[in-house]
Amino acid sequence: MILKKSASDLEKMARAGALVAKMHEELAAALTPGMSTLDLDRIAEQVVVGAGAIPSFKGYRGFPATLCTSINHQIVHGIPSKDVVLDEGDVVSIDAGAIVDGFHGDSAVTLIVGGESAVDPAVATLVRETRNALWRGLEQVRDGSRLGDVGAAIEAVADRHGFGVVREYVGHGIGRSLHEDPSVPNYGRPGRGMKLTTGWAIAVEPMFNLGTAANETLDDGWTVVTADGAVSAHWEHTIAITPDGPVVLTARSDEPSHLLDSAIPQY
Ligand code: MG
Ligand code: MG
Repeated sequence: MILKKSASDLEKMARAGALVAKMHEELAAALTPGMSTLDLDRIAEQVVVGAGAIPSFKGYRGFPATLCTSINHQIVHGIPSKDVVLDEGDVVSIDAGAIVDGFHGDSAVTLIVGGESAVDPAVATLVRETRNALWRGLEQVRDGSRLGDVGAAIEAVADRHGFGVVREYVGHGIGRSLHEDPSVPNYGRPGRGMKLTTGWAIAVEPMFNLGTAANETLDDGWTVVTADGAVSAHWEHTIAITPDGPVVLTARSDEPSHLLDSAIPQY
């Protein structure tokens, strides 16, 4: 069942989204070689708790941390650890969520420690084009479009580059719960699937692999890795269809939020 959001709900979700954006901005500014993923988690938790908010993931089905930090061939749901120390050329996907006044925001980025020049060009392209795919999906989110339009736009980017599109993990509705209906796959057929309407809030989150789409979960019960060991990237935003049009609730200061009024970026 789709839980449509009222104007008051959307106002709370905007504040949750803004806090998640702030987490990511502080993490990106702090990221340096020699840090551990637990260091990143502590920064994130301070931002959330300092704002009087609650981390979305900590305690979710027993997940132990504020962030999911997934390195290199890890796709999603990696657990921050003092033993995972980041080096130049590491690719770190950081997924963050926060609850403000009972509503969640959810957003992920993939950062390259040391920047694009620290990795093979194919890895830099994977990271950049996964972000591109996120925005190609977001620009399909509007009153009257279909879930298949969103998935197809994302999948088309992967197909152009031969990336594996992870199918077992998908985007989702979001609101008072972190994961609500509907599922938002990163693949699909234009014109198919449920019709999006004003009041929807969803998280769009492509996960692309440099190799095949096949994946497996480690013995920790959380960390999802590529089966072939190739690098993976993950980008995510929470977007709502408001009476004023689609709004990216977790947009950072260098990204547009009100999509009807903005040029939608290419990365
Ligand atoms: Mg997320
Ligand atoms: Mg999500």
